[in-house]
Amino acid sequence: MNHELKSRLEDYIDEYDPKVLTRYVKKDSELDEAIQECEGRTYSEKMYNALTDHEHSICERGNLKKYVSITKGYKFCGSTGKCECARDQVSKKTSETKQSLSEESIKKSSEKRKSTMVDRYQVDNPGKLPKAKENRKAFYDAKRASKGTTP
Ligand SMILES: [Zn+2]
Repeated sequence: MNHELKSRLEDYIDEYDPKVLTRYVKKDSELDEAIQECEGRTYSEKMYNALTDHEHSICERGNLKKYVSITKGYKFCGSTGKCECARDQVSKKTSETKQSLSEESIKKSSEKRKSTMVDRYQVDNPGKLPKAKENRKAFYDAKRASKGTTP
């Protein structure tokens, strides 16, 4: 399907509830014709394939996947027992979710720490605190004093 028709279909999808979407798309005869040429067991699936150029309808093992909806597209061709693609996908998703979760929480906690410091002391690093500077100075002064090198 050409770019213009695709963006027109996207507009319909944005605008209308999935329940009534088909009714409006079918009224657009040029668009309807292009969609009818696409593969799919339902009109919604045809629309999805028209949008994605059939990219996602076949799994990595060559099986036809199950269609879910125009917004969700396809899920696996079968259960994890039937096809390995589902198993691959499930384990990939799980590790991706874990990874992004941990990355996000790490980022968040470090940002939170930073902003708390900034709120409280107007610095983003505890080493920059005046109190810390004082402590450091006192520490080195004491060290020098114990060695008898006080000026
Ligand atoms: Zn599969």
